[in-house]
Amino acid sequence: MAVFERKPRTTVPEKPVMFEKILIANRGEIALRIQRACREMGIKTVAVHSEADAEAKYVKLADESVCIGPASSGLSYLSVPAIISAAEVTDAQAIHPGYGFLSENADFSERCEKSGFVFIGPRAETIRLMGDKVSAKNAMKKAGVPCVPGVDGALPDDPAEIIKIAKFIGYPVIIKASGGGGGRGMRVVHTEAALLNAVTMTKTEAQAAFNNPMVYMEKFLENPRHVEIQILADQHGNAVYLGERDCSMQRRHQKVIEEAPAPGIDRKLIAKIGERCAEACRKINYRGAGTFEFLYENGEFYFIEMNTRVQVEHPVTEMITGVDIVQQQIRIAAGEKLPFKQRDILFRGHAIECRINAEHPYTFVPSPGRISNWHVPGGPGIRVDSHVYNNYFIPPHYDSMIGKLISYGDTREQAIARMRTALSEMVVEGINTNIPLHQELMNDAAFIRGGTSIHYLEHKLAERTKGK
Ligand code: ADP
Repeated sequence: MAVFERKPRTTVPEKPVMFEKILIANRGEIALRIQRACREMGIKTVAVHSEADAEAKYVKLADESVCIGPASSGLSYLSVPAIISAAEVTDAQAIHPGYGFLSENADFSERCEKSGFVFIGPRAETIRLMGDKVSAKNAMKKAGVPCVPGVDGALPDDPAEIIKIAKFIGYPVIIKASGGGGGRGMRVVHTEAALLNAVTMTKTEAQAAFNNPMVYMEKFLENPRHVEIQILADQHGNAVYLGERDCSMQRRHQKVIEEAPAPGIDRKLIAKIGERCAEACRKINYRGAGTFEFLYENGEFYFIEMNTRVQVEHPVTEMITGVDIVQQQIRIAAGEKLPFKQRDILFRGHAIECRINAEHPYTFVPSPGRISNWHVPGGPGIRVDSHVYNNYFIPPHYDSMIGKLISYGDTREQAIARMRTALSEMVVEGINTNIPLHQELMNDAAFIRGGTSIHYLEHKLAERTKGK
């Protein structure tokens, strides 16, 4: 007699079945990037778009497209009901959120799964855990990831306690909103006299901006670099790190140039931190691609936050590892096992990414409008990720990034040389872009040396303004 055993229900299919159709809940270059990954894998795509993006080329290239609302992203790319209905009417099986918009929204992840669609990203509870900086920091500390010195948990209300905590950490300190993001909800304090006022102000701001008044305190690092670790984790307990990226070239906490590997950091230290991150993923049962962001100062790594999605700068990691991160996200979501172990991941050469923005190179005033002439460079080691084409109209409603220029070389010097050539060949007419700024940075002595801090670009820009 046959014995039938009922298997416990699980979200991981026993035999992974690849999706036939994926809905891409995003726009711009990342929508095209995800579409390309799907096409290569033989997966059909559904593009959702606002009225302002109806003419976008990737919308036409998708197998199906659905208009989900007017130009304003609150009514389209951020509209959960509109996106879920689009998935329903097109019979998509999974939803890829890209970056920004709903990508780190735990409620959206939950809604997708409740409505019967696979969310290509971590589970809602993981997004929630990592979306709150206090709980993320505590979880990482527990998992053995080094954090910025501070005290565990949110700040108490008692002023005497707050003063004691700051004394214990040592000035300067930084007050940060637990629910903060996008470089907002932070305040640096240099003296005890300024402390209590700064805490009150940050709390008020945090309540207004993030609907969560909780703030915490940590040591303010004076001259760090931003170095982050890319990880991939499947649903079978396997996790690997794909090395690091240096994203220190920033303006207003926005990354401008990213590169991999990070110049001048001991490879053994990277391996140690990378392994800690992979181990932390195993511990919290992480699923998908993710990034651990660190500040790096005087040879030490300090965790600041985790991003539970694909990053803008993922191509530099793809270039030096040969791993297609977006395809791996899809495979992981379908229940496949990672096809490699840590020892199979080999790092080769150097890659640099310049974010091409439609903005004035020095005033940074956004420059939407029609591109009258668009010519992209090519040649060995050059990759362009962009949804833009000749005569494309950049809508004024969204982020100013119109593409990413990525160069690869056997050495950092070669990657820089190729980037210089590529920038000189690139033609964008009809709007302003930050290409002149990138050209200047590719010839900047400190950048060429490598290892500049997160304040370098701001200081350089301030000097330029003073000199005028
Ligand atoms: P967000 O989620 O808003 O991006 P992060 O915690 O990632 O906030 O911090 C953003 C940036 O703020 C960092 O890249 C760094 O430039 C600065 N920063 C954050 N914490 C510290 C710190 N303890 N010391 C110095 N700079 C910090």
